Amino acid sequence: MRAVVIGAGVVGALIARELCRYDLTVLLFERELEVGFGVTKANSAIVHAGFHDEPGTLRARFCVKGNAFYPKLCEELGVPFRRTGAYVLALHAQEVPELERLLAQGEKNGVPGLEIQRTEEILAREPKVNPKIVAGLWAPTVGVTEPWALAQAAVENALLNGLELHLAEKVQTIEVKNGCVKGIKTDVGFYAAEIVVNAAGLFADQVARMAGLDVPEIRPRRGQYILLEGETNIHSVLFPCPTPKSKGILVVPSVDGNLLLGPTAEDVDDKADTTTTQEGLQQVREGAKRLVPDLDFSRAIKSFAGLRPETAAADFWVGPTKIRGFYQAGAMRSPGLTAAPAIARFLVHEVIATEWHLSPRNWNPRRVPPPRVADLSPEEWDELIRQDPRFGRIVCFCNLVTEGEVVEAIRRGARTIDGIKLRTRAGFGRCQGGFCTDKLLLILARELGKGAEDIKLKSERSPIVIGPVRP
Ligand SMILES: Cc1cc2nc3c(=O)[nH]c(=O)nc-3n(C[C@H](O)[C@H](O)[C@H](O)COP(=O)(O)OP(=O)(O)OC[C@H]3O[C@@H](n4cnc5c(N)ncnc54)[C@H](O)[C@@H]3O)c2cc1C
Repeated sequence: MRAVVIGAGVVGALIARELCRYDLTVLLFERELEVGFGVTKANSAIVHAGFHDEPGTLRARFCVKGNAFYPKLCEELGVPFRRTGAYVLALHAQEVPELERLLAQGEKNGVPGLEIQRTEEILAREPKVNPKIVAGLWAPTVGVTEPWALAQAAVENALLNGLELHLAEKVQTIEVKNGCVKGIKTDVGFYAAEIVVNAAGLFADQVARMAGLDVPEIRPRRGQYILLEGETNIHSVLFPCPTPKSKGILVVPSVDGNLLLGPTAEDVDDKADTTTTQEGLQQVREGAKRLVPDLDFSRAIKSFAGLRPETAAADFWVGPTKIRGFYQAGAMRSPGLTAAPAIARFLVHEVIATEWHLSPRNWNPRRVPPPRVADLSPEEWDELIRQDPRFGRIVCFCNLVTEGEVVEAIRRGARTIDGIKLRTRAGFGRCQGGFCTDKLLLILARELGKGAEDIKLKSERSPIVIGPVRP
């Protein structure tokens, strides 16, 4: 029996991993060159607690459960995860009722440990926070992770357990006969399958229509960010009081010791419109400074934008459909990253495995993470160099990444400059690839047996060099 998953974002990757627990042939299709390069690539990377979501929604249900799965999941897959806790800050007395509403909502959703704290208690934990705050909602279960790393690690682990991965292959049609799925057609060929899961993120509406379903449109809502390097004096995720449209502009300590500020919430028309704008970034600066007034913007190393998949109902699509064998896991706006592990388990074990009477098979849940020289002691690093001298050749000086790590990233599936960057952090530091992009490009070309002009930044649409300037 064959199961196809469409979309290798964090949701599709975790679904494919869970499907590999059963006696099935599992195929994962991704139209981009790399795993995790859709919505999963650019977001706030927060593992939410679940107090922002209205009780009764799929968001609330899967967020709280997903949060609880994170520590074990990230440990099994060797992915960074840190429980930072979070504050929602009230800057005026008029905002305190909103904290009380979120507290009550969170308790109804089953979020543990929520409490409203007074100014002195908050400032004792977070001295950089705006001293004008009047109170804050403390949520100890909030954490941070690396979303793309989770997607990539889940796929690596699934490959160990028999997954067939098809990158750079776009699903174009879904064949349905007599109300049952028969397979999918891509730009490469036809694949018969009894089970098809739509995890196509922003494009899940298009994929659902390929199967003949009448679904609402998914609209992109852009979020712009600024990344500050090495700002380690904030320990918790900081939220303002939310608006009806979004959670507001946040201050997020990232797993690698930087500070992420954003996102904006702008409805745009184009599902590829990840441009940043002067007004958007100004809004990010002002919003972040409301929470932490003396942020040092001279430490800004990057601005970027992501696109939330929004629907009018503002909730996830999860579960079976009227077509036998066709399942939805789409429209994953925030907190889709948090909810993903719970959605994957629910859909695979409680829905698909039950409906098709699937038998479990031997399955290894663990992935061994690649060596990271920056985290090693001098003795451990020496030992690694003795085993392979390429671990002694530094490629990225900002984040201390070696040739050995880049080669290992390629062995594990990196195919583009951004693919290496997200797997190793080469090019993620202060110079943003100014000094290492050429080295990464040449290593990629060498390891893949390609010409330098064939190496792309992140997709087929992003060439870097066009050929030699001298013979
Ligand atoms: C600005 C912003 C902030 C956010 N912050 C948070 C947060 O802090 N915490 C949180 O929990 N959530 C957050 N989210 C939400 C979270 O990022 C998403 O819910 C999650 O990444 C969605 O993952 P996905 O796998 O559904 O989608 P994607 O990552 O987009 O994966 C879908 C994949 O399907 C592929 N695809 C599409 N069509 C086809 C086709 N026809 N054939 C083959 N492949 C196809 C795409 O290329 C894509 O890679 C945020 C989102 C945004 C944009």
